Order: sequence, then C-alpha cells, then structure tokens
Amino acid sequence: MNNTAYIALGSNIGDRESYLRQAVVLLHQHEAVTVTKVSSIYETDPVGYEAQDEFLNMAAEIKTSLTPFELLDLTQSIESELGRKRDIRWGPRTADLDILLYNRENIETEQLIVPHPRMYERLFVLAPLKEICPQVENNKISAETNQEGVRVWKQKSGVDEFVHSES
Ligand code: ATP
Ligand code: MG
Ligand code: MG
Repeated sequence: MNNTAYIALGSNIGDRESYLRQAVVLLHQHEAVTVTKVSSIYETDPVGYEAQDEFLNMAAEIKTSLTPFELLDLTQSIESELGRKRDIRWGPRTADLDILLYNRENIETEQLIVPHPRMYERLFVLAPLKEICPQVENNKISAETNQEGVRVWKQKSGVDEFVHSES
C-alpha cells in the first residue's frame, strides 16, 4: 500500500450522499486499498452540461498497492455497481470516480491521464482536494478557476465517521 492517490467523487442522481458513501466503502473494502482521508462534501452547480441537477462532490485520499490502471478498473467497476450509465458526456450520473493524482506520476494514455486533465480548472474538484492534499496549494486555484457555484454541504469528518454515519 505504498502509493498515494486522490480520487474525486461526484453524484447528481437519487440519494447523492448515499452514493458517495457507498463508493468510499467499496474503495475501502478492496483488499489493496485503504481510504485514509475524506474531504467535506460540497454541493455544486453543474459544469459542461448545465441542464441537470446539482452535484454533490468530494475527494478522498487512498493508500494502495494497485497500479494506476488497476485502480481505474476498480473505480469503473464501482461506478457500474452503483448503476452508472454513460450517455450524455458530463451528464447526470449516480457516481463518477476520477483519479486525480497518483503519487507524482504523469500518465498519458488513451484510457488514463493523470493528473486528471481538467482538475485545475474545476473548483468542484479543487475545493475538496485542497482540504486533504498538501501538494495542492491555493495558488493552483488560479484566476481562471471560476469561483462560483461550489458550497460546503457537509463538513469534513474522519473516514470511520464518514463511512458509518447514517445520513
Ligand atoms: P471528466 O473526465 O471530464 O470528469 P467524466 O468523468 O464524466 O468526465 P467518464 O465518462 O467518467 O468522464 O470517463 C470517460 C473516460 O475517461 C473513461 O473511460 C476513462 O478511460 C477516461 N479517463 C482518462 N483519465 C482518467 C482519470 N484520470 N480518471 C478517470 N477516468 C479517466
Ligand atoms: Mg468526471
Ligand atoms: Mg469520470
């Protein structure tokens, strides 16, 4: 488990908080993953495709012995398990799990790009990530990052409380 990765989670269909919580539980249940930190949950206005409901977004830090590609397989299988269907790009979804950072690696393949290519222009990614990731500083949230449409919805807690709290 000697790799550190950061995952962005988002949901805007149904019981959004429950999807986020289940996604974190499913990550943590994998034998090669430990969830070590979770951010606050933010409520955010949709970006990219705006005719859809508001999102809940958060970020998680994990320690893992999975390679980046194995981790992508896991995050995609968790999305499917939580009922994710892909039709509209950037459209509504029960659960989106994106790999933001994996150690300090730079990966550029057709399947996987790390750091996530759009993370630095998205406040809905940076605001939660900044809470738990020391390498993301305020100065990365640049003048080009739209500062609107992102509000704390539920304050940060420990991983155990997050996974076990009822609502
Ligand atoms: P965005 O990537 O802009 O947030 P999205 O999350 O809605 O959009 P998806 O439909 O979840 O996009 O993923 C599309 C493809 O992106 C996936 O099939 C995956 O192969 C690829 N991908 C590339 N880099 C990453 C990454 N860092 N994390 C997750 N998926 C990635
Ligand atoms: Mg995404
Ligand atoms: Mg995605």
